[in-house]
Amino acid sequence: MSKFSDLQKQCICDVSGLDPYLSLSGEEKERIEEIIKRYPLKVTPYYLGLINRDDPNDPIKKLCIPDYSEHLDDGEEDTSGEASNTVVKGMQHKYRQTVLILSTNNCASFCRHCFRKRMVGFCGDEVADDLKAMASYVSSHREINNVLVSGGDAFANDNSVIKDYLEMFSALENIGLIRFGTRIPVVMPQRISEDDELLSILKEYGKKVQLAVVTQFNHPREITSDARRAIRMLLECGVYVRNQAVLLKGVNDDPAILADLMNGVVSAGAIPYYIFQCRPVLGVKNHFQVPLTVSSRIIKEARCMMNGQARGFRYVLSHPTGKIEVIGCEGDDMLFKYHEAKNDEDQGRIMRIRIDAGKCWLDPSDLKR
Ligand code: SF4
Repeated sequence: MSKFSDLQKQCICDVSGLDPYLSLSGEEKERIEEIIKRYPLKVTPYYLGLINRDDPNDPIKKLCIPDYSEHLDDGEEDTSGEASNTVVKGMQHKYRQTVLILSTNNCASFCRHCFRKRMVGFCGDEVADDLKAMASYVSSHREINNVLVSGGDAFANDNSVIKDYLEMFSALENIGLIRFGTRIPVVMPQRISEDDELLSILKEYGKKVQLAVVTQFNHPREITSDARRAIRMLLECGVYVRNQAVLLKGVNDDPAILADLMNGVVSAGAIPYYIFQCRPVLGVKNHFQVPLTVSSRIIKEARCMMNGQARGFRYVLSHPTGKIEVIGCEGDDMLFKYHEAKNDEDQGRIMRIRIDAGKCWLDPSDLKR
C-alpha cells in the first residue's frame, strides 16, 4: 500500500469528523450536510489543525470547510473551455507546446475554491483511462514538449500510476519536461516527506527528463515546517517546485498577506509562477471572487513588499482564449496582455479595456479586436 492510501484513510469526510477541530453550531452542521451532498467534503487532519478555531473568518477554514454560498446557482462549470480542448479522453491540448492530463478526480483535500468542482470527488467521466492513446497523440504531435499531469491532484494517484506516467512520457523524444499539479505539499506534506518510494521514483526519472511540481500555497500560514520539508525533499530529488496561488476573497485579498505569502514561498524553496484571478465557477464565484480593479490594486501594493524573487509571478486570468496577464490600471481602463494564447493571432496581444467596479472576469465582447 502506498503512503497516500494510508494517509487518505485519516481524512475527514463527514461533518461529525470536524468536531475535534471546529466549534460548529447545529445549524452550521445542517448546512454543511446539505452542501456536501453536491460538493463533497474531504480534509486532512493536518490541514484542519492549521485552523484557528477561535476565528470565525479564519482563512484556512474558508479554504476547506463548505460554505452555504456554494449552493447559489451562479457561475459556470467549465470556465476554461476544458471540454473543447480535449483531444483524448482526459487529455487537453490547448496550448501548442503543452498537454494537460486529468489523471484522477481524487485529491488529498477538496478545496472549496476548486475550479474543477464539477468533477473532484465524485465524477470520473473526464478522467484519463488510456495512457497508451495519450502517449501516441503526444508522440505524433512533435510541437508538444511538456506534459502537465493534473487532476484532481496528481499525487493522489498511487505511486505505481505516477511511475507509469513517468515511464511512458519520459520515453518520448519530444518531451523535455513533466510537471505534476498537486496541492499535496500544502495539505498533506507527509505524503512526500515520508514516502521513500515516491521520492525514489522521482529521483530515478528525474535523471531522464526534467520534473517539476506545480503547487498552490494561498496563505502564508500554509507554509509550515512540514510543508518546507516536503519542498526541500523534492528539490533534493532534482524536482523543481513552482507555486500558482489564486487571489481569493477573505483568504489573501490583502497586500501584506499576499506579500508574506510570496516571500514565504521563496524562502521555502519554491518559485512564484502565477497568481490567478479566481474564475467564475459555479459554487465558487460568489464566495471567493475579488473585482479586477481591487485585485489589481492589491497586487500592486503587495509587490512593493516583496523581494525580487517573490515578484517573479504573473497575475493572470485563465480564460478560454488563453492566459491573459493583468498589467494594471490606467485611469478608468485596465491593460491586459495575452501571455499564452489558444490562437496564434492573439499571442502577445495587448488590450485596453474599460473595467467597471465590481467586474470580476472578462467577457468575450471585451476581447474583440
Ligand atoms: S487539490 Fe486541486 S483539484 Fe483538488 S480540490 Fe484542490 S484545487 Fe481542486
